[in-house]
Amino acid sequence: MSTIAQLEQQLRELGVREGGVLVVHTSFKAVAPVEGGPLGLIAALERALGPDGTLVMPTMTDGASVFDPRSTPTVDMGITAETFWRQPGVLRSPHPGGSFAARGPHAAQVCAPQVLSPPHGVDSPVGRVHALGGQVLLLGVGHSEDTTLHLAEAIAGVPYSIAYPTVVAEGRTELVAETDHCCRNFRQADGWLRAKHLQREGRVGNADARLCSSADVVREAVSRLAADPLVFLCAPSAQCEECDAARASVP
Ligand SMILES: [Zn+2]
Repeated sequence: MSTIAQLEQQLRELGVREGGVLVVHTSFKAVAPVEGGPLGLIAALERALGPDGTLVMPTMTDGASVFDPRSTPTVDMGITAETFWRQPGVLRSPHPGGSFAARGPHAAQVCAPQVLSPPHGVDSPVGRVHALGGQVLLLGVGHSEDTTLHLAEAIAGVPYSIAYPTVVAEGRTELVAETDHCCRNFRQADGWLRAKHLQREGRVGNADARLCSSADVVREAVSRLAADPLVFLCAPSAQCEECDAARASVP
């Protein structure tokens, strides 16, 4: 069982910056067991960030029904994020599919209204974390879960895009265009960042943890995308349905 104090120490040693803006993607099962459960992990993250820090987590939904940031449960975001957005003082952004939650001095800025498409572009929560000089923490998950790589795709102007009907209000559906694919090839970011010593790795609880700056993730990915705009898509021979659909969307 990891105590909150032990987790806080591990997060500090990993390099979580006090007073910074931190976007966290988590598999709680990988970190567990933790004193206090998901709330204990949230407490450890906020203690490592200190009172001037801002904690950010994805709270995405499926867009199949009207989104209410005060009541719509997350879909596949894990118990930590699902617990986090329900806490007092936590703000949640209003995007009908790609919402994030945040608490701390920059929460209102991170969670401000945004454009509908793309959900994770420059004008989005991860775009604002990047603009604020923030960090990305992956706890028990890899870069395949790293939404900041979608920001890199938006900045690089990748040629693929899939439009999903998304409920934006009662009886009203609009198309949200995303740079969607299976995201398995986002894992290449490990190699790119490790080669330049831009990724800190260690253990937090029982989980493998990765920490990098949002700026480094975006810069390295944008440079690879400039050389090969389809670098994140599985090869046609892999017969990956999602990546084949992304490939077919290229004009
Ligand atoms: Zn794929």
